Amino acid sequence: IWLSAAAFFSCEKKTEAGSKPQAFDKEVQDLLKNMSLEEKAGQMTQIDIRNLLNNGYGNTDEKLDTARLKEAIQTYHVGSILNCIQAYTPEKWVELISQIQNEALQSPNKIPVLYGTDAMHGVGFIKDAVLFPHNIGMAASRNDQLVSQAAQVTSTEARSVGLTWNFAPVLDVGREPYWSRFEETFGEDVYITTQMGSAAVQMMEGSDLTSKTNIASCLKHFIGYSAPKNGIDRTQSHIPEIVLREYYLPPFREAINKGASSIMINSAEINGIPCHGNKWLLTDLLRTELGFTGMVVSDWEDVIRLHTWHKVAATPKEAVMMAVNAGVDMSMVPNDYSFPKYLVELVKEGKVSMARIDEAVGRILTLKIKLGLMKNPLPSIADVGVVGSDAHQQIALNAARESITLLKNDKNILPLAKDKKILLVGPAANSLSALHSSWSYTWQGSNESLYPETTKTIREALEASGNKANIRTNATTGFDDAANYDVSFIQKNTAGVDVIIVCVGEAAYAEQPGVIKDLNLPEAQKQLIVAAKKTGKPVIVCLVEGRPRLFPEEEALADAVIMCYRPGSKGADAFAEILYGDINPSGKLPFTYPRYDGDITTYDYKFKETEQQLKPGVSEFVAFNPQWPFGHGLSYTTFAYSNLNVNKSNFTKNDSVLVTVDISNTGARTGKIAVELYSRDHFASITPSERRLRKYTKIELKAGEKQTVSFTIKAADLQFVNKDLKTVTEAGAFDLMIGNLQTEIYFNE
Ligand code: BGC
Repeated sequence: IWLSAAAFFSCEKKTEAGSKPQAFDKEVQDLLKNMSLEEKAGQMTQIDIRNLLNNGYGNTDEKLDTARLKEAIQTYHVGSILNCIQAYTPEKWVELISQIQNEALQSPNKIPVLYGTDAMHGVGFIKDAVLFPHNIGMAASRNDQLVSQAAQVTSTEARSVGLTWNFAPVLDVGREPYWSRFEETFGEDVYITTQMGSAAVQMMEGSDLTSKTNIASCLKHFIGYSAPKNGIDRTQSHIPEIVLREYYLPPFREAINKGASSIMINSAEINGIPCHGNKWLLTDLLRTELGFTGMVVSDWEDVIRLHTWHKVAATPKEAVMMAVNAGVDMSMVPNDYSFPKYLVELVKEGKVSMARIDEAVGRILTLKIKLGLMKNPLPSIADVGVVGSDAHQQIALNAARESITLLKNDKNILPLAKDKKILLVGPAANSLSALHSSWSYTWQGSNESLYPETTKTIREALEASGNKANIRTNATTGFDDAANYDVSFIQKNTAGVDVIIVCVGEAAYAEQPGVIKDLNLPEAQKQLIVAAKKTGKPVIVCLVEGRPRLFPEEEALADAVIMCYRPGSKGADAFAEILYGDINPSGKLPFTYPRYDGDITTYDYKFKETEQQLKPGVSEFVAFNPQWPFGHGLSYTTFAYSNLNVNKSNFTKNDSVLVTVDISNTGARTGKIAVELYSRDHFASITPSERRLRKYTKIELKAGEKQTVSFTIKAADLQFVNKDLKTVTEAGAFDLMIGNLQTEIYFNE
């Protein structure tokens, strides 16, 4: 459906963005009047900092090459620089960014550089910065407040060193668990992604972008990046517009409404149309329909890739024309300055209009002014004390505590008493990088030597929890080949042991290094669980992974399973607290954990299991039968739901329904619980989802305590995209479901 309207626009050679002309402040207009075409093309160019280093990337003592810096700023007028230098301390960052800004202040119009970075779960490129659980874990916490706090810490730490633009949050909805960036998503649910994504944006940007606690956000990756057909990063996806609007668009729409400053484009193509050349997407949808007035940045080299990868532009120069005319305001690399050179030529040839250039540059300058960079371009060494502070570490600890999810706990084997003798095995027990993964001190996060001294592995955290004498362990780290050594270690070391903890999962990865061909846990790791079971001791499996890795047969051998996701700086500490019961787990799965990779399905699927579908012997392949459902997560206490009430059972678009429910802690200890409200549409003009999450909140209850939770449901909370691509709420009956309770309401238009 989407193809029909969009395909032709995207390949048209001479169109320009053509949304309504944007009005800019006088300061911007004056600058635009004074700037040469070359300066404007330079502002639209972003280069990689590694292009300006003289000691070679990877050397922790890299310094700026002053001649290359001068060339970038004075000859090519680059408007933006991005990303990392390995193990760069806050002080070195301040020095580096000051040097860049001082050079920029020598340029004709004294326009400071906008420095962008990927602070995806904390400022991953500052040495010793605090790193939070990746979004997949934050989503498991079901706690928007934690997301806001993490965003505030991230912006404060970034801003303190002069980093003013964050390529976050990721608003791609994670409905394809094969995708190697699944860990960067808030999981499969569009509502959670919408809520948490906009909470992050609001906190990062605040009401005043000049403040020392705020930075510009960048929503990414617009749009549909998380749905490659075969899971391989940056490959084709097929997304009908009805699906695009239902599941992928809402988080972007909401974050734009909340005032996000910039947006990054999906590197890949949808329905055969590369997003970077898709004028329908970048202008008609983004500008005209969503009303976005901020800046559009390409993803990595993606302008030129319209020629080199996607083959929709016959030459690199045509690629520049296509992207800029479709609506790209800034090109993230290449570093060879081909982008601004071609752009200048294209304007002179009349193939890109000066109006389009002024529009793009106007947006870039507007952001620099909003950030206060024109008046105050230099960071101050006096501010860097906030990086990795104790207060920030505490927030990371709280986030890890609330995200870790107890998936299985047969016979309440957990929590463990501290005097239990533990045999601790498996590669994830000894890996800092597996706890953090992408965007952690390096892009892939895999350099163990760059992690701060204070960050603990699972093994170190268990040893530090007062139980060191009771832990027997080794130091294997190989995720694919640890089994041989660890299996014989298990066999030789079980005497006197009470329980075996097997830590499995995935090594750190980002983007393409994270591409896998099989969602199953590698066989070598499965064999660890088998070997542990053979000893006859209870087996606790700890999963450290960015996406569900499958182990259906071996799961049955485990007495308990704890999902850590990628829990960050304080992840191991939180794991130890949960294992020993110092903290009561409260995470809930933000995705459906499939049993087999042939039955990947999201919880909001569109068919009903019926008796007829359940064929004897093969029922698990026919029916929806995940290993663990979306929303699953156990506690060390028990909760009961009662008195689900609505203040009215009929409502119209002008009013709302107040839903109340009582939650009681019926167990023996304090616990937190995420209360979730789902709806189910009885009948609709397209097949309704089995259920949809509409609201959630998280509360804490002491043993024996009861609390009434209320939610307000409006017509818009029950809407969906119909076959005319309109977002509608249709009249009729809806079930509302909380816990094991259910009631019915009727919407009358
Ligand atoms: C990623 C983006 C990231 C950019 C800059 C790209 O490869 O797709 O998410 O912001 O690199 O590091």
